[in-house]
Amino acid sequence: MARVEFRNVRKQFDDEKKGIFTAVEGSNFVINDREFVVFVGPSGCGKTTSLRMIAGLEKQTSGDIIIGDRIVNDLHPKDRDIAMVFQDYALYPHMTIRENLSFGLRNLKKPKTYIEEKVREAAAVLGLEEMLDRKPRELSGGQRQRVAVGRAIVRDPQVFLFDEPLSNLDAKLRVQMRVELADLHKRLGATIVYVTHDQVEAMTLGERIVVMNQGVIQQIASPAELYANPQNMFVAGFIGSPPMNFIDARVLGNSVFVEGTEFALQDTIADGLRAYQGREVILGIRPEHIFGEDVVSSVSGNYRLTKQIKAVEHLGSENLIYFPIGNRTVTAKVHPETVAYPGLSKTFVLDFSKVHFFDPETQQRIE
Ligand code: ATP
Repeated sequence: MARVEFRNVRKQFDDEKKGIFTAVEGSNFVINDREFVVFVGPSGCGKTTSLRMIAGLEKQTSGDIIIGDRIVNDLHPKDRDIAMVFQDYALYPHMTIRENLSFGLRNLKKPKTYIEEKVREAAAVLGLEEMLDRKPRELSGGQRQRVAVGRAIVRDPQVFLFDEPLSNLDAKLRVQMRVELADLHKRLGATIVYVTHDQVEAMTLGERIVVMNQGVIQQIASPAELYANPQNMFVAGFIGSPPMNFIDARVLGNSVFVEGTEFALQDTIADGLRAYQGREVILGIRPEHIFGEDVVSSVSGNYRLTKQIKAVEHLGSENLIYFPIGNRTVTAKVHPETVAYPGLSKTFVLDFSKVHFFDPETQQRIE
């Protein structure tokens, strides 16, 4: 059973400039056997430190780390039965691909026939058979990335750890490798923990995603759940592109008011906002839930708002329209046939069945 668990894991660094600095606050999660879990968050949020603690490359300040059925707190990295794939691949330039793939097993003094078999298997899985006698410099970026994965595969680890493995590839190759990694996960049936700052990579690869910010886990959920039900404004704003719009609103009776325009609420939502009577809340609505009135199809619980367009971006398959509400700029992601140009006064339809409300102070979701 290759599950990975953190129980109240904290990591502090004694930094020369910052002093004692907490990179990971009491962190708790369970990654199940054969699950593909992605750690995502902005730079410095603690995702790499968390991954390095699983690997044993960094020792936690407190808490327990469990891999399989063992507490591995005091276990050396080589005894944890994990394999890590690094961002820079860390291939040996003077060795052939075959030697790179077999290096770890030779170090472990495995029998020659066993090593040959493992290298052959990994090369077949990754389509590297023709390249075994080449040196890394004779390979493309994507092929080198596959060799780095191959070095992990030959070791048959309980858990694969990936640290931003696609960040050195160009955009097109990244998409291709993303598909390959998802496919590889299915074929290997392995437990994978994957670190990235790219929310699209997280959404496409992760069966579950751990969203982190400033050393604190914000939410752990499937991509669909994170998208539909973000627990707070950080997750709501981080997942989705362009990000969710946040609009200042006030609760009065069974309605919210946005700049004097009244939007009546469904009973269940009005009930949920009862404690905020007469107070400010933040209304969250995704750009794709705002439509041009001229191109709207069927939207339930819709409301209208007329605004002057500030800017328009034509992306081919869709247009992004920017318009102001209060001192914020709101983005609508609309059908390309929607009539829009800067200065046009346009009526937008808001799909209120999809909006969320957040507490402006705690930033937690209310409804
Ligand atoms: P990135 O995407 O930039 O790699 P990250 O989310 O992976 O970011 P970490 O590398 O885990 O972030 O770092 C978390 C915090 O801990 C950062 O503020 C970083 O500066 C700090 N940190 C990491 N390693 C050390 C160290 N050895 N000494 C001091 N501070 C460190």
